[in-house]
Amino acid sequence: MLYIVSTPIGNLGDITYRAVEILKNVDVIACEDTRKTRILTQHYQIRTPLTSYYEYNKAAKGDYLLKLLKEGKNVALVSDAGTPGISDPGYTLIRSALEAGYEIVSIPGPTALISALSISGFATHRFVFEGFLPAKRGARKKRLKELKDHKEETVVLYESPHRILKTLEDVHEVFGNCPIALAREITKKFEEVVRGDCTSVLECLKKTKPRGEFVVIL
Ligand code: SAM
Repeated sequence: MLYIVSTPIGNLGDITYRAVEILKNVDVIACEDTRKTRILTQHYQIRTPLTSYYEYNKAAKGDYLLKLLKEGKNVALVSDAGTPGISDPGYTLIRSALEAGYEIVSIPGPTALISALSISGFATHRFVFEGFLPAKRGARKKRLKELKDHKEETVVLYESPHRILKTLEDVHEVFGNCPIALAREITKKFEEVVRGDCTSVLECLKKTKPRGEFVVIL
């Protein structure tokens, strides 16, 4: 069995009882960064072995994990934060396991996009999750122009502190002075949501060096 286990997006308390039980009882936990996941496993006295599965070893490690499933082992997949497969390499393993005929079970929990969307104050009945926009400016603006066609839906983006200013400048250029909710460090010590038009959110962001992880809602 391959379990897809959601883990906290910051606050270690945000994990289900069932997730902890599964992580204690599987044969191996595949995670992105073993140092990050070890903080969680130590906190909950989970002694299951960890093995790294991330962007740059996902082909070889994916084969190894499928071999374990073939031997009848139970494997849990977690990501650095939130729900595996959402803007992280989890999708590739999930796809290969399905193709190989293994059963996949979801152990649901936090994901940054739903947490941010639910407190944004924006309409939530229809939304488009874009995840990370392209890193290069030309491609980023092209994608934003395509997203502009979604006139009825709320748009949800992920962004890093290094690119948030550039991305919001491009949003301003393409969408104009549109309403934005910018959720930062959800469930963590410096958690905040800045709501306003694009110009005021940009001004607020420029006051100090952007830090932490961001979800942008348009
Ligand atoms: N699998 C994760 C999920 O379910 O949300 C997302 C992984 S993706 C590699 C990491 C991005 O998620 C960050 O760059 C940020 O945009 C967003 N994110 C994760 N944790 C967050 C948090 N606590 N506050 C705001 N954004 C967060």
